[in-house]
Amino acid sequence: MISVEEALERILAEITPLTITRVPLSETLGLVLADDVIAQEDIPPFANSAMDGFALLSQDSQLRDGKPPRLSITGGVAAGYVANHAVEPGTAMRIMTGAPVPPGADTVIQVELTRSEGPESEWVEILQAVRPGNNIRPAGEDMRRGQTVLLRGTEIGPWEIGVLATLGWANVPVIRHPRVAILGTGDEVIDVDEPLRPGKIRNSNSYLLEATVQRAGAEPQRLGVARDTEESLREKFTEAIRCDLIITSGGVSVGEFDLVKNIMTEQGEIHFWRINMRPGKPVAFGHIGNVPLLGLPGNPVSAAVTFELFGRPIIRKMLGHTQLLRPQVEVVVEDGVSERVMRRHYVRARVEWRDGHFVAHTTGNQGSNIMTSLLNANALLIVPEGGTLIPPGGKAKAIMLDWPEA
Ligand code: AMP
Ligand code: MG
Repeated sequence: MISVEEALERILAEITPLTITRVPLSETLGLVLADDVIAQEDIPPFANSAMDGFALLSQDSQLRDGKPPRLSITGGVAAGYVANHAVEPGTAMRIMTGAPVPPGADTVIQVELTRSEGPESEWVEILQAVRPGNNIRPAGEDMRRGQTVLLRGTEIGPWEIGVLATLGWANVPVIRHPRVAILGTGDEVIDVDEPLRPGKIRNSNSYLLEATVQRAGAEPQRLGVARDTEESLREKFTEAIRCDLIITSGGVSVGEFDLVKNIMTEQGEIHFWRINMRPGKPVAFGHIGNVPLLGLPGNPVSAAVTFELFGRPIIRKMLGHTQLLRPQVEVVVEDGVSERVMRRHYVRARVEWRDGHFVAHTTGNQGSNIMTSLLNANALLIVPEGGTLIPPGGKAKAIMLDWPEA
């Protein structure tokens, strides 16, 4: 048996980031930037007003004979337009937030610090002296032309999208989405819309995995279920190798080992491992042709947990991420773990922040076929190998399944 860490290390050693492509800005959320982003212009591109008010010369705002100076208004400039004349000494121009500061003016006073006869007024009194540059957002204050604003390797989130839009990047170089083939196996497995017949069960794994693959940032392609025959597997693999990654479930435990093993090794190179963990001891990894294949166990909980531990990091590495693993925190396990398991035990749990620490509750029966043990679980408690028990109120490390890798 190999450890989870060894399995993960061996798997990731075989995975490289995918190729670079350009995608429309609005489709880049969650992808990894493949190039540095260098500003090609100053942002803001021109000095503009931060307030609605008046553009003037700062020297004209000083008291005159102890009284507020009165300036004549020569026009106005709205956001999106430029003034058609300059501000001369003794005059002012109405200005709106975001409008370019007209030539001649070196300051802006907000309307609240002035007095006039309203929108049609031909004069304005300046009620407070203002310094040069007041309420002016200079060109390049945010980003300078030539400045490296984003580094390649950055995960694109909403803030990055805002910056890219500001800089005019309508199409963005990113590492492309992996396409992931999802294949069920087993003569007993029927589709969700089929009526149950004796001996049959519905295909939960493929749908569960489709969702997890999508959430990991890849494009799932559900290929149905291969029968437990070599012909059926061969046929499915022909389709699957058009993808960047193949994820199968079932058919890797001892019972069916040989059949699947035969066809997998015929078409590529696959290693069947027994991993020192529960749920999810049997896992296969290798290649069909050049395409990596991750063979997960058939029991739904095992498939879910092994996907989180091995499948998701594979997809993230393909996407160009460098942070591949979910964060871990120390938690107080309120109900404890009383089942003695010799392998490392990943116990589904609900973790919450309460009174200054993280508190975990396990989700009941932890059998690898008990799908309801996944419900409400946002964490996997790591119970060390060797038959460790956790008394109620004892501590454990938890992998936080709903926290981003960071
Ligand atoms: P296997 O590894 O193929 O022996 O499967 C282990 C267990 O998981 C068996 O009880 C299978 O019926 C079940 N199983 C396999 N594939 C699926 C699937 N796609 N959906 C739900 N259960 C499955
Ligand atoms: Mg099977």
